[in-house]
Amino acid sequence: MGNAPTCREAILAIKPYIPGKPIEEVQRELGIKDVIKLASNENPLGPSPDAVQALRDASEKVYLYPDGNCYYLKESLAEKLKVSPENLIIGNGTDEILKLLAETYLDSGDEIVMADPSFSEYEFAAKVMGGRAIKVPCRNFRHDLSAMAAAVTTKTKLVFICNPNNPTGTIVGKAALEGFLKEVPPHVLVVMDEAYAEYVTAEHYPDSLEFVRNGMNNVIVLRTFSKIYGLAGLRVGYGVAASQIVNDVNRVREPFNVNLMAQAAAIAALKDEAHVGKSLEMNNEGKKYLYNQFEALNLKYVPTEANFIFVNIEKDSREVFKELMKKGVIVRTGDIFGYKDFIRVTIGTQRQNEQFIWALKEVLNEV
Ligand SMILES: *Cc1c(COP(=O)(O)O)cnc(C)c1O
Repeated sequence: MGNAPTCREAILAIKPYIPGKPIEEVQRELGIKDVIKLASNENPLGPSPDAVQALRDASEKVYLYPDGNCYYLKESLAEKLKVSPENLIIGNGTDEILKLLAETYLDSGDEIVMADPSFSEYEFAAKVMGGRAIKVPCRNFRHDLSAMAAAVTTKTKLVFICNPNNPTGTIVGKAALEGFLKEVPPHVLVVMDEAYAEYVTAEHYPDSLEFVRNGMNNVIVLRTFSKIYGLAGLRVGYGVAASQIVNDVNRVREPFNVNLMAQAAAIAALKDEAHVGKSLEMNNEGKKYLYNQFEALNLKYVPTEANFIFVNIEKDSREVFKELMKKGVIVRTGDIFGYKDFIRVTIGTQRQNEQFIWALKEVLNEV
């Protein structure tokens, strides 16, 4: 045997993503039936029943290639968001769009600017292209927009604003964002990642689509069907931007990147506003319940505008994670975000929230 093929140098800087075990495997190993996953910010109510019916109907058509232009999904989205279909790009999850943006805009040695802690996919996408992530520490768990603007150089191609921010749940407000956009030079594309937009209740949350509607051509807004729409398993997300940006990103997109089932379900999910309303209401109730419980336990948490809470448990989160798992509750440890004593927990159904709090109380007494 000769030497194995060598991979690109840039790839060596990437730590492979380590996926958690399937929930079924955790249940089998621990011998418990009722394991709840509050680790990935999925909708605990599941998908809209209309989306499920659309999937049944679409299943007969899977011998056909999907519509490579997502014609009907774009029509539905355009109408709802009050933009033109030419302003839309659909991806195999928002994750794919993040990668497409990196492929479209980053040469080796280029920079992206992002907050820290924030969503790790931005750095991953940059590194795949040999780019460098400039991570600007959050202040009080919020994006420090003036420091982020100051971090922009001639090499900066993309700036990521995760709004609400994952894992902190905080938002960037309208006035601050408008100020920031004035400071950022026009050669920089500002990526507004709004995966949790539908959960936000704060009045000062910006309507960033308005920038696109007004013809601003260095902003792209990303949303997803994985969170409040409950379709994470199907992989569908979208970007809204000036048509020139959409056209450029389309050059690197695979022709059939969004599968047929996903397109059908997304259209149906978008129409079922009652399901979205119910999901939002449950999230708001769950948020209140968890805040009260954390306060009773004397635990500090970051007030959230999303469907997860970043909580300071004042113990090693990996230990707490292991013990919570034994009690059938899976959360996200904070160490991956640089906060070893924090956990990020998805707001679940009332029953799930109660099971989580019960388990947390037990574990904090033990660890
Ligand atoms: C979940 C999430 C996404 C969406 O991912 P998909 O690929 O659409 O499932 C994007 N950004 C953030 C910050 C997220 O938390």
